[in-house]
Amino acid sequence: MVDEAVQKVLKKIHWLGHDAFRIDADKVIYIDPYQLEAGEPKADIILITHDHFDHYSPDDVKKLLKPGTTVVSIAAVTKKVRGAAVETVKPGDKVTVQGFALEAVPAYNVNKQFHPKSAGHVGFIVTVDGVRIYHAGDTDFIPEMKDLRVDIALLPVSGTYVMTADEAVQAAGTIKPKLAIPMHYGAIVGGLSDAQRFAQACPVETVILEKS
Ligand code: ZN
Ligand code: ZN
Repeated sequence: MVDEAVQKVLKKIHWLGHDAFRIDADKVIYIDPYQLEAGEPKADIILITHDHFDHYSPDDVKKLLKPGTTVVSIAAVTKKVRGAAVETVKPGDKVTVQGFALEAVPAYNVNKQFHPKSAGHVGFIVTVDGVRIYHAGDTDFIPEMKDLRVDIALLPVSGTYVMTADEAVQAAGTIKPKLAIPMHYGAIVGGLSDAQRFAQACPVETVILEKS
């Protein structure tokens, strides 16, 4: 079993389908909100990994805005955001937004062309109650992953545009988080069977989240 701090933070992480998550920390943090159901709470902070439609959905972002919302993303996204404060990041940046330490880390393809390294897409590390949560964004298993120090890793498993479940298993073995959570399935490409294949082979503890 993972330690108590990780267990506690896990309860605050809600999977909203595909790559979308809501983290109920002291602030409400969303990552890549997409195809949201009605009635989601408004956002204090919205993190967007890159400008593909299933990650940057202007309609979904709009639904979450309130006075004071900050959208954190790469320039390709922040230049299009209206009605919110923005913080523009690139891979390697560390910023503090509304008291939260955020790191933007590289995310790119190595054996396909959808996310070239030159596009500067990112993943994020968010620290909540001392627990480091890594949302990988749309990425393959990349060399930079060996230097990540994270407690919870949200990893894509669908293949096609991102890592396959088997590649995500390798990534998890290298990153060595205390807990891994599969994502990027159930909407565009990939299904629950990919998440299950990942969970079965993964060398670290894994949780398949229910959509909530
Ligand atoms: Zn993408
Ligand atoms: Zn994607």
